[in-house]
Amino acid sequence: MTNPNHKTQNVVVIGAGVGGLTTATILAKHGLDVTVLEQQVYPGGCAGTFFHKGYRFDAGATLAAGFYPGGPMPMVAEATGATWPTEPASGTAIAVHLPDGSVFHRPVGDGEVEAAAQMFGKSGERFFTWQQATADRMWDLAMALPTWPPQSVTNLIGNLIPKAAQWFLRNPSNPGVVDAFLPVSAHLPKHDNILRLLVDGQLLISAQQTSDKVNALYGASALDLPRRGVAHLRGGMGAISQGLAQALENAGGTLRYRQKVSRIERLPGGSSMVHTHRGEIYHADIVIANLTLYDLGPLLGDMRTKMPHGIANGFGAFVLHVGARDHPNWARLPLHQQVLRKRPLGEGNSVFVSISDVKDSSRAPHGHRAITISTHTNLAKWWHWDQTDPNRYAEEKQKLATIMLEHSEWALPNLRQQAQLVMPGTPITYQRYTGRAFGWVGGYPQTSLLSSRGAKAGKNLWLVGDSIFPGQSTAAVALGAMRVANEIIKDINYKR
Ligand SMILES: Cc1cc2nc3c(=O)[nH]c(=O)nc-3n(C[C@H](O)[C@H](O)[C@H](O)COP(=O)(O)OP(=O)(O)OC[C@H]3O[C@@H](n4cnc5c(N)ncnc54)[C@H](O)[C@@H]3O)c2cc1C
Repeated sequence: MTNPNHKTQNVVVIGAGVGGLTTATILAKHGLDVTVLEQQVYPGGCAGTFFHKGYRFDAGATLAAGFYPGGPMPMVAEATGATWPTEPASGTAIAVHLPDGSVFHRPVGDGEVEAAAQMFGKSGERFFTWQQATADRMWDLAMALPTWPPQSVTNLIGNLIPKAAQWFLRNPSNPGVVDAFLPVSAHLPKHDNILRLLVDGQLLISAQQTSDKVNALYGASALDLPRRGVAHLRGGMGAISQGLAQALENAGGTLRYRQKVSRIERLPGGSSMVHTHRGEIYHADIVIANLTLYDLGPLLGDMRTKMPHGIANGFGAFVLHVGARDHPNWARLPLHQQVLRKRPLGEGNSVFVSISDVKDSSRAPHGHRAITISTHTNLAKWWHWDQTDPNRYAEEKQKLATIMLEHSEWALPNLRQQAQLVMPGTPITYQRYTGRAFGWVGGYPQTSLLSSRGAKAGKNLWLVGDSIFPGQSTAAVALGAMRVANEIIKDINYKR
């Protein structure tokens, strides 16, 4: 707890995503004076749930994981005091529809090695045995490490090396050393078969790249989501950030909506003045930006933080929000399905389809369902069309929405006939609603352990969210944000 003899530190958090709210709540519980400024009228950002014409649509994220005992979400609940209306999922976590018409059911919890052996023979069994063993060790390490990448030499020598050494000693047969330098594809059969397509499709949604690019250690953990405490959240994914927002209020923190931050003025000594579009100014001893680096730079007046060409020309998300009349054939379907039609993946050739639980009456009018469908799409082309040819932009938007609806019928038969409301969103829509530069989502492509970003962005200036380690997903972001809060508390205590 903060020593009452010391002046209370003012903390301003920019953004009420899962990252910002997690750090904010822990700091407020620690006695700091915390204000969160959010540009939207609801919390959650990419993992928010918004209300439209009687439906509650998940904005982007739909699958909630990390809720297993001792996992990241229970740890966050303990640290923040947040509670969530969850129900553990069972059966299939994600059904993956393959181009030959077969469907691979990724089970919640154990059973995937057996399922893979049945469907893909020895190579499937070998791959998922490696994946699970590696993921177990990686989760063990991720929970043990206080932070990554090292924030300082002291942090590296005093903390990380001893923790990593302990981890290796506990796992003497550890194959992880070699995997640190290999892509996931090193563990897959060489030829381009259906198993490889399945792995690529799943990696694309969890690690933003395919098996030839994703680092083997990251990839094994990213593929592990179904085994790691998948939960149904009443009210949609936004329930995570709503629970955090409530916990923030309980801890004495303040959350202000419709407050878009337009500038951070740095003061000598490391404090800041945070300016909003409405002309309000907040003094902050500490600023925490729940933003990407490319959004933070311009707020600091640094226009040089340009997005690297690879990312600007890389993937964003195209999302369809569909309100539909329920159909009897949907009654027994898993809530999350992926359809893989052909390579190259993305651009509607692969779609992730999530449907609201029929038991959750808060999500849709009676007899209806709220559906979120997403695909990866090239970011740059949408900006190009938007700026040079608005008609082409509108046409391409419609074309991709049509392909996605058609392909989604492999997962939800009769979808087009049942749909009553279809709202397509490009990366430009994403930028408008989440404030993320270029509508870029998904965190850093996990191609190398060494490409992770640290959280410290300057004196008393921190980043949280999916652009720092351990990267994207609500569970990973919450875990990373919890670590940042602990670092800040340590920092404050050290200075006293
Ligand atoms: C299509 C899609 C599908 C996904 N599927 C899943 C999934 O199934 N499961 C999963 O776990 N994860 C999924 N993810 C990833 C997950 O949603 C993200 O990793 C996570 O939500 C990111 O949280 P964040 O805190 O980093 O930032 P964000 O969610 O981006 O939150 C940032 C917040 O800051 C606010 N903000 C921005 N600029 C300003 C400003 N200037 N002033 C004030 N406020 C500002 C925004 O409005 C927003 O609320 C998906 C993501 C997408 C896009």
